[in-house]
Amino acid sequence: MDDTSDFLPWWVRHQRLVLAASAVVLVAAVSAWFVAETQLAAGVERCDPEAEAELGSDDWASGVVDVAAFTPLDEPGGGDWRAIHKEPRQCFSDWLDRKRQDVTQERRTLYLQPIGSFDAEASPDMETLAEFGRIYFGLPVKVMEPLDPASLELSKRQLGGEEQWLTTDVLDELETRLPNDAYAMLGLTMTDLWPGDGWNFVFGQARLSGRVGIYSFARYDPGPGVRPADDRRRMILLRSMKVMSHETGHMFGITHCLHYECNMNGSNSLYETDSQPIHLCPVDLRKLHHAVSFDIHRRYLALAEFYAEQGLVEQAEFVRLRASTNQPKTD
Ligand SMILES: [Zn+2]
Ligand SMILES: [Zn+2]
Repeated sequence: MDDTSDFLPWWVRHQRLVLAASAVVLVAAVSAWFVAETQLAAGVERCDPEAEAELGSDDWASGVVDVAAFTPLDEPGGGDWRAIHKEPRQCFSDWLDRKRQDVTQERRTLYLQPIGSFDAEASPDMETLAEFGRIYFGLPVKVMEPLDPASLELSKRQLGGEEQWLTTDVLDELETRLPNDAYAMLGLTMTDLWPGDGWNFVFGQARLSGRVGIYSFARYDPGPGVRPADDRRRMILLRSMKVMSHETGHMFGITHCLHYECNMNGSNSLYETDSQPIHLCPVDLRKLHHAVSFDIHRRYLALAEFYAEQGLVEQAEFVRLRASTNQPKTD
């Protein structure tokens, strides 16, 4: 089963505590499916000392990216993802060896497929999300015309008075609509999701073999209590960009990061997600760079400009510094 989901809750306020507790268990288990599957499929093993040494001494990492500027991971807290899920490291060499979809001239576009209606105050702007994706992944990103859920064959149910859709049904529908030039298609919805019997909800689910994923933004809105409104907008956008880029990273065969504080760190809660950066560490940036072949220096500069435009000061400063210290050369 090629499934993954990582993020935790914002829910109907009066149900938050009950659902948050169950969500930790449920989301963790779905993510475990993904991890188990990728390990089996890829034969990923723990890095040996030689492979780990490449992180600091490798020509690519030391010559292009200032490795010392990234923060190695500390011991996890009790409820953190790494405390609960014992996953293997994925070195660059492990990633190279694993089976994954290649980006080709014929298949290099990421599609964002909105499904249903979006409350403008409680959801990210699609074009902004697409622009971020273009810079972050160095690939074309297209926003498709929204799909009317009434036109889809979806199993639905109610949870706490809110509608949910069955993820596997959504993924089946997306697979039938996958454009020929798509590297992957990411369904986005404001409707809550659940993955099957015994589950309350999931934030998202990906089917790597089908190159499709579905992610719900239903739980990322901190609510109108967050003032000023621009802070609320920024929080929704940042969380949405994190989930979109993290899950798309999985589409590239990148598993959870155990090297540095990184966008590919696993997360057991929205709190944990909020504490993690949106940038890729040198190890995972190298994987993406190998897959796509973008110009790392220009990517950092473009990200700095984009984050600054969105008022994401901390994120802009980090990549601005990386752009100022790295060398303008490519792999
Ligand atoms: Zn993940
Ligand atoms: Zn990483």
